[in-house]
Amino acid sequence: MSKIRVGVIGVGHLGKIHAKLYKEVENAELCGIYDADTTQLNEVARALQVPSFNALDEMLQNVDAVNIVTPTVTHHAVAMQALRAGCHIFVEKPITRTEDEAREMLDFASQNKKIIQVGHIERFNPALQSLKGIDIKPVFIEAHRLASFNARGTDVAVILDLMIHDLDLILHLVKSKPVHVSASGVGVISPTVDIANARIEFENGCVANVTASRISAKKMRKMRIFQKNAYISLDFNDGNTELFYIPGADGTGPAQAGLAYSLGEIDTGRHKKEIKYARLTSPDANPLLDELRAFTHAIANELAPAVSAVDGLQALELANTILQKIEAHKVAHS
Ligand code: NAD
Repeated sequence: MSKIRVGVIGVGHLGKIHAKLYKEVENAELCGIYDADTTQLNEVARALQVPSFNALDEMLQNVDAVNIVTPTVTHHAVAMQALRAGCHIFVEKPITRTEDEAREMLDFASQNKKIIQVGHIERFNPALQSLKGIDIKPVFIEAHRLASFNARGTDVAVILDLMIHDLDLILHLVKSKPVHVSASGVGVISPTVDIANARIEFENGCVANVTASRISAKKMRKMRIFQKNAYISLDFNDGNTELFYIPGADGTGPAQAGLAYSLGEIDTGRHKKEIKYARLTSPDANPLLDELRAFTHAIANELAPAVSAVDGLQALELANTILQKIEAHKVAHS
């Protein structure tokens, strides 16, 4: 089978890593890169020893698919140009600036049978991947994504920059509609919201309590999932997952038998229950490489993408609801 011809648009901080990793994707051929900033384009082309295009149109005529790794405000315009030229697209998160922009891309792509994959990279984090084969039915989720301050990304609120990763993961895990959201957040250093907390209630009764900050002294990316007879702790920083569970009808054991060991027993007599523990880890995983492989695999095999435009839109809708609640809270208390 011939290789998928790909191009990377926007080779700043993240785009140059996309371009570099494409060399390792077996069924892809990196035809070249493009960036609106010619100095940046030439520098990255030289450093990575990859071809470059001086005009976007020229690239689009020579590739089957593109990765859009430009600032979020530009995603829609670049994506529509690429889709109209007949390309499949990988677009970084958040999918677009507005929900209408995302809907237009989604409609065009489905009418023209083009794939859109969205860069919610945590779906490929080994902490989440290790849950495969485990029955996940959350009733309560606690998520913390804390980072130290970096001026990069502060043009948008922390909800669109960091929290949106957890919003996508939570929607993916809970598989139910958010029905009630309350939130608060403040700008401490930047003019936009730097730290925020949201409580999301879902139609199926699950509740998620989500905190994101970009003004923390210590980095943390943790999600704790509680469900009947099980507690699951995911660490997205080191890619590890810990399972604590009671084996039995509702117990959530690891997919591979033999990974778990007994932590002891609780209660006595006929109420006695054994608590089991398992630590799941895969230190060699590369989520960005896996994300690119999933994209070209979906194109080559005409499959639905691992993270669809609908997923990207739903995460954006929830992020926008949280932003509106924060704004309403601010107005009510000003
Ligand atoms: P960046 O500013 O470092 O790089 C963006 C590049 O795009 C620049 O080189 C710029 O010259 C170029 N560019 C701007 N407009 C363009 C256009 N119209 N056409 C072609 N090139 C253009 O930004 P970044 O940090 O690499 O972020 C890029 C995107 O990736 C953003 O959407 C951001 O939200 C996303 N991102 C995702 C993650 C993640 O975890 N998935 C992490 C960081 C950034």
